[in-house]
Formats: sequence, structure tokens, C-alpha cells
Amino acid sequence: VSDVLIVGAGPAGTVAGTILARAGARVRIVDRASFPRDKLCGDTVNPGTMARLAALRLSDEIAARGLRVDGMLVTGERGVRIEGRYPRGHAGRAMLRRDLDWLLLQQAMAAGCAFESGVAVRRALVESDGTRRVVRGVAASAGGREIEIDAPITIAADGRHSTLAFGLGLARHPDRPRRWAVGAYYDNVARDQDQVQTRSRSGREPVTSMFGEMHIRRGRYIGIAPVPGGLTNVCLVRPSQPGDADFQDPAALLARELACDSLLRDRFADARIATPPVVLGPLAVDVRDEGLDGLLLAGDAAGFIDPMTGDGLGFAIRGAELAAAAALRALEHGWRGVHADLAAGRASAFADKWRFNRVLRALVAEPRAVDVAALAARVMPAAVRAVVARAGDCHLVPA
Ligand SMILES: Cc1cc2nc3c(=O)[nH]c(=O)nc-3n(C[C@H](O)[C@H](O)[C@H](O)COP(=O)(O)OP(=O)(O)OC[C@H]3O[C@@H](n4cnc5c(N)ncnc54)[C@H](O)[C@@H]3O)c2cc1C
Repeated sequence: VSDVLIVGAGPAGTVAGTILARAGARVRIVDRASFPRDKLCGDTVNPGTMARLAALRLSDEIAARGLRVDGMLVTGERGVRIEGRYPRGHAGRAMLRRDLDWLLLQQAMAAGCAFESGVAVRRALVESDGTRRVVRGVAASAGGREIEIDAPITIAADGRHSTLAFGLGLARHPDRPRRWAVGAYYDNVARDQDQVQTRSRSGREPVTSMFGEMHIRRGRYIGIAPVPGGLTNVCLVRPSQPGDADFQDPAALLARELACDSLLRDRFADARIATPPVVLGPLAVDVRDEGLDGLLLAGDAAGFIDPMTGDGLGFAIRGAELAAAAALRALEHGWRGVHADLAAGRASAFADKWRFNRVLRALVAEPRAVDVAALAARVMPAAVRAVVARAGDCHLVPA
């Protein structure tokens, strides 16, 4: 019998598992997918998240195999274009989530976690004494059989559309915003011709910096990131309603968006789509964690705002650290006070950034605000650079 059952082997699940296993807990991680598996994402790990992973001794391979990202290129309407280099030489990485998540899972197994793929969790097993609900494990399908997995602690790390959080009535998609994402990899994308040239340490050869890109347009945005292997990740996020005809042919939608954009069309003129596009939405999920004993939420399963700031992995990893600490405390001393402390820990770690992200999200949703932002960007480019540093969680990088 495990002490802790973790549902979902994405970054939240594997990081929580690693911390718990290192602390001596018996951890079982289950996922419905077989790994390595794909995951729609912008594929960038920001500097603050790299620093958290380094503090957990989980970043070496990611740093070695990912492409270095020195900042963000942000563009807006009417030719606004600002390079926001991360301050003090900080850098993130770009890496396929297929590879990133597999590296983190292998490290979790090396730390002692047991892992089973092909286990699709259907619902939480809940006991109730009439006043309180207590989670005592999960029901799942595995290898064509229905099974029950008992555990004193279950961590729901099963992502944005969490089966556990939705099934328990804790999660819902808010009425607004209703945004969807479509993403694909492209071959043969020309790099931005004005990319930043700097000098190498020796001061002789010019070095080309690699920037992630965020192209903000009326009501929508396109994130672009080169990834290892010569491919380029392209994600479009825009409002949508059920039955939206545009999303029935997502490849055509992406092609149209790129072709009609004056800044991007030339760079994609010779590009080919290399993977079938993936569509995801509605993106936003509100979660009300009512603090059920036996259950902890981590990563996107604990709520998701919007991918624009490229910091979901940061929330997933910090949230996993907090959930792991809560699980250890519950194992040792019982559940009393655990949820209240976890909620306070999450509020102190995330509240400022959540506020910042909500303001940015509202900004791209408002055509007039986009105009004002474009003007502000022209007269105050330093403000945009500060936003890029904040979005990149650069304040979390130790000096
Ligand atoms: C379009 C888009 C772009 C993004 N770009 C970035 C970016 O550039 N940088 C960044 O930091 N963040 C980005 N994010 C956010 C980031 O992808 C997430 O925050 C991150 O993946 C959360 O990790 P997680 O471990 O919580 O969930 P996930 O990575 O989604 O992992 C959940 C796991 O649970 C498993 N699972 C789900 N349901 C079940 C079930 N019922 N039974 C068993 N297993 C199950 C899944 O197979 C999966 O392996 C982006 C998100 C989107 C939508």
C-alpha cells in the first residue's frame, strides 16, 4: 500500500512525487497516458521555474538539452515591437513537453516512485459521515478492468481538465473568458530578422540571442518558440464558442492567422506544418478547493488562468512543492490544519502573480486596452520589459 497516490505524471505530479519519495514516503504515480507523451504547451520554461527546478536538483538535463531563452519578443498592433531581455543574464529554456515531462518522470522513478501508465482514473472514492466528505482513493480503468486504488492521501495532479476536481464538483469553466488554444509545430520558419545580436564572452563573435515570442493582436495572441530539433512551436489563443466553425479545421485557422499577419507572414512563407494541430479549451478553470481530507490538488488541477504569461509550469512546480509538504504533514500528524496552511501557502506564493496574470488577460481581451498598451509600449518600452521580467518570474532567481 502506498502512502501517497498521485494521479497524473505531468510536472506537478512528478515533482510532488520526487519530493515525497526523497522524504521516505511510498509513492505511486498513475497516468492514463504512456510516456513519453505529447502535451499542448508553448514549451518554454521561464527563468524562475528553472531556478525552482535547480533548487530541487532537477534542472541539469533540462538546462543541457533545452534551447536557451534570453527573453521575450512582444509585438502588438501597428508595428509595436519590443525585445524584453530577462534581467541580469537570466535565461529560461525551450523544450518539447514530451521530453521535459519524460525527464521529470524518470527522475521521480529514480527517487523511488512507482509508476503505472494506462490507468485512467474515473472518480474519487469518497466516504461521508453525513457532515464531511473524505477521499480514500480512486476508481480507475486499467487494462480493460475496473479497479479501486485505496490511499490515505491522493494528490490530484491530473491537469487542467482534472477528472477528480470536476468529478467532485470543485472545478468549473467560468462563463468568461471562453478562450481556446490551437497549437502545432512548424518546420522551416525564418527567424525574426531583427533578432538581438550580442557579443560572446570573448567579445569577438556575435552571438544570437533566442527569444520566445508573444504576438498580441485584437482579442487573440500567437505564441512562438523555437524548440530543439529545428522545429518551431506555434500556439494561437482566441475566444471561441461551442460549434465555432473556425476550429473545425484548425490547420486552416493557423495558416490564415499567420498569413494575414504583417509581422509573421514572411517568416512563415516557406514554413510547413509538421504535426497535426491540437485544439484545447475552454482554457480557464476556476477551482474551489473545499479542503477534503484525503485529497490535495496540484498544478493545473488546482486552477488555470491563461497561458499568455508562460508560467503554468512555475505554478505546477511550486504548487507541487506545497502539496508535497502538506502530504508529509498529513502523514505524520493527521489532517488537522493542513488545508488551511496549504491555502495560506498557495496564497502567499501565488496571489500577486495571479493578479498580474488576470490584468494581462483582461488587457488582451479588450480592443481599446490593446490600443492603449500599444501606445504605452511605444512611449515606455521599459514598462514592457518589466512585464516580461515579471511574467518570467525573474524575481525568483537567486542573485
Ligand atoms: C496553449 C498552452 C500553452 C502553454 N504554454 C506554456 C509555456 O510556454 N510555459 C509554461 O510554463 N506553461 C505553459 N502552459 C501551461 C502548462 O502547460 C501547464 O500549466 C502545465 O502543463 C501543468 O502541469 P500539470 O502537471 O498540472 O498538468 P499536465 O501537464 O496537463 O499533466 C496532467 C497529467 O495527468 C494525466 N491525466 C489527466 N487525466 C487523467 C485521468 N483521468 N487519469 C489518469 N491520468 C490523467 C494526463 O495524461 C497528464 O499526463 C501552457 C498551457 C497551454 C494550454
